[in-house]
Amino acid sequence: MEPNPHQARQPKVYLETYGCQMNVADSQTVSAIMRRAGYANAERPEDADVILLNTCAIREHAEERVLGRLGDLARLKHARPEIKLGLLGCMAQHNRAALARKAAYLDLIAGPDSYRRLPELLARAGFDPAVDVRLDRAETYADISPEYPDGVRAYVTIMRGCDKFCAFCVVPYVRGRERSIAPADLMREIRGLAERGVREIVMLGQTVNAYRSGDTDFGAILKMTARIDGIERIRFTSPHPAEMTESAIEAIASEPKVMPHLHLPVQSGSDRILAAMERGYTVKEYLSLVDKVRAAIPGIAISTDIIVGFHGEEDRDFEETLAIMRTVSYDQAFSFKYSVRENTRAYRLGDSVSEEEKGRRIAAVIALQETISLERNRATLGQVFPVLIEGPARRGIGLLAGKTPQFKTAIFPTGDTTRTGETVAVRVESATGHTLTGSILAA
Ligand code: SAM
Ligand code: SF4
Repeated sequence: MEPNPHQARQPKVYLETYGCQMNVADSQTVSAIMRRAGYANAERPEDADVILLNTCAIREHAEERVLGRLGDLARLKHARPEIKLGLLGCMAQHNRAALARKAAYLDLIAGPDSYRRLPELLARAGFDPAVDVRLDRAETYADISPEYPDGVRAYVTIMRGCDKFCAFCVVPYVRGRERSIAPADLMREIRGLAERGVREIVMLGQTVNAYRSGDTDFGAILKMTARIDGIERIRFTSPHPAEMTESAIEAIASEPKVMPHLHLPVQSGSDRILAAMERGYTVKEYLSLVDKVRAAIPGIAISTDIIVGFHGEEDRDFEETLAIMRTVSYDQAFSFKYSVRENTRAYRLGDSVSEEEKGRRIAAVIALQETISLERNRATLGQVFPVLIEGPARRGIGLLAGKTPQFKTAIFPTGDTTRTGETVAVRVESATGHTLTGSILAA
């Protein structure tokens, strides 16, 4: 068919995502909103009419990366001024005033509760940028089905926002108050995913286990999801230790589809620092939760987040963090240097630990975790795990990769690369701190 010269070319949007899994999920919602408004996807910023960066404000470093990228994109806009450049998400919410100054070429600044209005905002953006950073206690985007990528695993946001206000953290200010998506909407979404071939659901929320909708709590949502045919594995991140109720533990313990892996951010092993961080638990309480979880769910893997160099953290506090890492013997730990964030409760306290010292402490945490992870992974040698095949391994021709129930990456050779989505029994033959290597047992 001849192209119709009168038909307007479909505008294209290029979207780049920074930060956590929640942001990746939010970008899938943004893509769906833009698609409804008639935009096609651009693979590269050079091909786009609209360029959007979905950003993270959790640490200063995250913001610096985005500012650097914005500088590159501003050159593109200079060459083609008709391009619209927008900043979305947590950094937009956190830095709106400074951004209007530092990046005057931005056409759009939109916070995490404003995505629904993006098409109108873009239409409005002119000489002045369109700014929408209203937080909305009711916005859950429940009626917008995100554009999920293909794959056996899908990340599904079940609640938004956070009410915890840990002293170091900007999330409650940029993502607003907690709100949960109604069970009926969630189940509809997850059933749709199962029909498309998704086998594993990862439920997302900043305090995912604080989920509550009417009488339905997090444990109930896990059980409801487990009843959906086709869904074989259920995971969630990040639960807050203070919200880890009996109902949630019971659901993980009793429901075979809920995988035995718990990401339980501890942040520090010092009671003094935990109190200053306003985390809402003591070391003793955290450890007794770990004991309870391990007693209820034998073989469960536990991972964590650790902040080093929070204001006031002395050597002895830091030693206690290393000590709790050894006591719990985490399967994995993500560690971060404390970054002072404006607006947070800890902002005014200051930043007493030097950058060099934070560097030394984070290196010690990483080194200790390497040793522990290696030890724990080596303990699996000879064991057999069901592995849901995700596709070819990133390295190694002819190797497939997937996760064990404990969320450890397993790689194994197979002549047949068409087995994505199948669960196979893999015997572990060698292990590093990051990967288990094995072979499929004959059926
Ligand atoms: N809601 C989750 C929880 O409470 O465990 C964590 C969400 S946050 C996006 C992920 C991690 O970033 C936190 O667990 C914490 O370790 C880290 N983080 C948050 N604020 C930080 C800050 N100001 N400096 C360094 N790390 C920070
Ligand atoms: Fe931030 Fe604490 Fe909320 Fe996690 S629970 S998002 S660390 S305020």
